[in-house]
Amino acid sequence: HPPPADARADAPPGPDALAWRVALPVPLPRLFDYLPPANGAALDDPVGCRVRVPFGRSGEKVGVVVATGPLEAAVAEPKQVIERLDAAPLFRDELFASLRWLARYTHAPLGEVLATALPGPLRHGEALPDTRTWAWRLTEAGATALPGLRKGKPARLAARLLGAPDPGIGVDEDRLDDAAAPGHVEGWRAAARSLAQRGYAERVAIASSSLVPEPAPGPALNAGQQAAVDAILATGGRFHPFLLDGVTGSGKTEVYLHAIADCLARGRQALVLVPEIGLTPQTLARFRSRLGVPVHALHSGLADGERARVWAAAARGEARVVVGTRSAIFLPLPDAGLIVIDEEHDGSFKQLDGIRYHARDFALVRGKALDVPVVLGSATPSLESLRNARADRYAHLRLRERAGNARPPKVRVIDVRKRPLEAGVSPEMFAAIGQALEAGGQVLVFKNRRGYAPVLLCHDCGWSAQCPRCSTPLHGTPMTVHAGGRRLQCHHCGARQRVPDACPDCGGLALQPQGAGTERIEDALKARFPDTPVLRIDRGSTQRRDAMERLLAEFGDAPGILVGTQMLAKGHDIAGLTLVAVVGIDEGLFSADFRAPEKLAQLLIQVAGRAGRAERPGEVLLQTHHPGHPLLETLLGGGYGAFADAELPQREAAAFPPFSHMAMLRAEARQVEVAEAFLRMARVAFEARMPDPGDGLFEVQGPIPAPMPRRAGYQRVQLLLSAASRRELHAVLDAALPAIHAAPEARKVRWSLDVDPIDL
Ligand code: ADP
Ligand code: ZN
Ligand code: ZN
Repeated sequence: HPPPADARADAPPGPDALAWRVALPVPLPRLFDYLPPANGAALDDPVGCRVRVPFGRSGEKVGVVVATGPLEAAVAEPKQVIERLDAAPLFRDELFASLRWLARYTHAPLGEVLATALPGPLRHGEALPDTRTWAWRLTEAGATALPGLRKGKPARLAARLLGAPDPGIGVDEDRLDDAAAPGHVEGWRAAARSLAQRGYAERVAIASSSLVPEPAPGPALNAGQQAAVDAILATGGRFHPFLLDGVTGSGKTEVYLHAIADCLARGRQALVLVPEIGLTPQTLARFRSRLGVPVHALHSGLADGERARVWAAAARGEARVVVGTRSAIFLPLPDAGLIVIDEEHDGSFKQLDGIRYHARDFALVRGKALDVPVVLGSATPSLESLRNARADRYAHLRLRERAGNARPPKVRVIDVRKRPLEAGVSPEMFAAIGQALEAGGQVLVFKNRRGYAPVLLCHDCGWSAQCPRCSTPLHGTPMTVHAGGRRLQCHHCGARQRVPDACPDCGGLALQPQGAGTERIEDALKARFPDTPVLRIDRGSTQRRDAMERLLAEFGDAPGILVGTQMLAKGHDIAGLTLVAVVGIDEGLFSADFRAPEKLAQLLIQVAGRAGRAERPGEVLLQTHHPGHPLLETLLGGGYGAFADAELPQREAAAFPPFSHMAMLRAEARQVEVAEAFLRMARVAFEARMPDPGDGLFEVQGPIPAPMPRRAGYQRVQLLLSAASRRELHAVLDAALPAIHAAPEARKVRWSLDVDPIDL
């Protein structure tokens, strides 16, 4: 135990003074020693507790104590912890151990990893919030005043409170937050405050279970679903990874619900991760109505305080089921029983800045440490997961058919070479859209998201510019258009060329960079179908999550056209959808990213799965300059499984993940030379530590321009490391990074390391 604080106040610390070793959220690969605070000595072991410490010339930071021990001799003037923030550790047991693992795996400072794992208020030192459930009810005065209240939000809220199943309890705040609930009042908190000020309503703490409905029964499971549930239950709650590989609409969610019910019956907590756009009110309502326990939601649309409440509820074991997006993988789970990752292939599980973790991969690490089953579900599994399933590392559970009465959609390809396109849409496509509308259906016009740098394509024959150095017969590597359309450049090797005047294949003059935006398509559709509602859904038109819900609700189920990108590929069920029209996939067929074919196949299958979810049969139209492209032929002929069968051997032949392991070092600076100088220094540092340079098992490529080579006035370049062995990759990173951190070049750039990058 440290000496009492006052005994130490005047005397300088002796040689064996005890220090608290603190992880701070700063980009330095080290911990910081501080003397214990005046208030900390009497309490228990501080490891895992947050502290506020002096940092820099006059600043303060919140960090986490990771160890105690003798003060480092090198510290000349040790500073003292200002304040211990937690009496009991916030990070402990499995979560603390898993986060330390994550820091080692991402080669990131532990303090930054721990900060990333916390919601804002906890990161900034606030206390664990109250997690009691609160409800609002009308007072007697409120009930009396209600008939005379002026029309408006307070009056609508008051009516809802009075109409609660038990007006004496009122309506709990989770319900009030639920935008899909009947009588929902947008911005109800202000309305509630206004009622409370007049003495018309009051906020009361309630037992959390009082408003949970009796669980509603689900459909009887079919044989495939039952077999999947049985396999998961057969683990007895011990660790085992499962890949639930089931076509869209095959009833995967039903399988999760049964596994969660079993987990709850065992008295355990369940965590369900869903993609950012998959966490709709519909999804939540389905979990809430079926499980008979409160379901906590955690997503980016929540206020900071709400996020902290969910974190605290999980830490206290009060949250029994949490459905959340990527960052929910950082929740403490003291009674963990099951982890589910829905749409495990989804790119939103990977964080692309800060600590670049992959929530699915980290879920497997945590599941193993917690010794609970981990279920990865998808209609289009990542090739990483498929390979693990094929190697028997994961149990491969399959659902081959749509559940219920829904039939798979028919897919037709339209060849648009030499056809007059309007905003990238062919006359055949316009005609089909018109027919679908006349038949009373709804149409989804889906545009693949534009790549950062456009590829050059010949509209007459479909030729596209490929790098002569990097392309192989199996994997074409496109060159992208730069310098205002005058130059072609390869993102792999940096090779440059002038844009040719005519198509090298057919001599045609119709060379065009690809990609009309969704706004132009929207305009063209509005002009063609002036009497039909046309609704564009993309990041621009729906900044807020509920904006999309509102737009779709207004859209209703009358004939109409939805135009959108990735955001519409899944998530919301659109019952009246009879035609999915897909445009702009050709850039995806020739992208520099070796994962582009996989992403495109996933997207096409997912968006096709939107059609014909209900009784009406659906049709999918795909327009392309490459009707005979092997990817399309394989996918349309044999489905995603056939695509994976063809793609995995190609990845293996090219030594791409999952058959190799990668790390990306990125740098940006105002002058490209400065960023390149940093990466060249790093390259030398890596090469000096490579096990056997030149054996092909470990490679460094670059510096090369990033896919988006310029952003906000910064020039961005990157260096790619790939290794046959994951262990060797990490050994080289461990050995080289201290020198890279310390190099003078590092101070002139913004740089970051991404282990297992997904966007090359
Ligand atoms: P997925 O998660 O694979 O897309 P869902 O679980 O959402 O599939 O199921 C798709 C639809 O089929 C839902 O409307 C669901 O209620 C229904 N469904 C699922 N399983 C069955 C079943 N065994 N019998 C009848 N309908 C089912
Ligand atoms: Zn041509
Ligand atoms: Zn090249």
